[in-house]
Amino acid sequence: MVLDGRVALVTGGSRGIGAATARALAEQGADVAISYAASAGKAEGVVREIEALGRRGGAYQADQADPGQVAGLVERVVKDFGRLDVLVNNAGVMLREVLGDASEASPEERRYQYDVNLGGVVAAVRAAAPVLGEGGRIITIGSNLSQRAAGPGVADYAATKAAIVGYSKGAARDLGPRGITVNVIRSGPVDTDMNPEDGPSADFQRGANAMGRYGRPEEIAAGVVFLAGPGASFVTGAVLDIDGGSLA
Ligand code: NDP
Repeated sequence: MVLDGRVALVTGGSRGIGAATARALAEQGADVAISYAASAGKAEGVVREIEALGRRGGAYQADQADPGQVAGLVERVVKDFGRLDVLVNNAGVMLREVLGDASEASPEERRYQYDVNLGGVVAAVRAAAPVLGEGGRIITIGSNLSQRAAGPGVADYAATKAAIVGYSKGAARDLGPRGITVNVIRSGPVDTDMNPEDGPSADFQRGANAMGRYGRPEEIAAGVVFLAGPGASFVTGAVLDIDGGSLA
């Protein structure tokens, strides 16, 4: 149990990669709080799975697009669990729009994607930085699309995911002297509600990686467990690609 006694917060833990990450951290001994936007029932289901593993769980509604709610989330978790050791910035949204198409998204929809994917990460890191202690971990879920936009329709999404890499490197410099690490996992295509493996661009995405398949949420969660654990104590400011070779 490499995470015995640790307290983790996974944003967007109600579904997909976040839910798998919450389970994987609990399997390694951590107590796990999760946040969600709308899926209260699914979040409660994940909490029950965490508790069935003998760990403490908790679900919190907090909109990642609102920095005040994100700060309140971190505050509530620290109050309820007594501490915070691992922050996983997982919550995210993906807006597909091809520049110049008549079907372009509205400015509000576009702003929301930046607010959740970038603003939410910044707000959570800012709130967690003062409460994390020696050995603290911050792990943010990025995307291979920030390094190589494999096809059309992802410019703004890729921008949000590229920005969090730069932000995490800066945060790693700030927090390193306190023994806190900050890293990014760049995920490849993973079968979730956001990107189902029977979706319209699924064949293209499979064909774009070296392994010719989608990843499973558990394969991203395994990377989070590594970065949260003692084996990664000297890894910071790094990017771990778990993408089936999408960038190979
Ligand atoms: P899902 O759409 O399956 O799940 C998204 C999660 O984020 C849900 O728990 C959702 O909560 C939460 N969420 C969404 N918006 C907000 C918000 N405003 N405030 C709080 N929580 C919110 O996504 P994935 O599991 O696929 O994605 C997880 C992360 O991985 C994202 O950052 C995504 O960009 C990244 N990623 C995913 C890839 C993929 O192929 N799936 C590839 C590369 C990166 P609720 O259930 O309440 O809506």
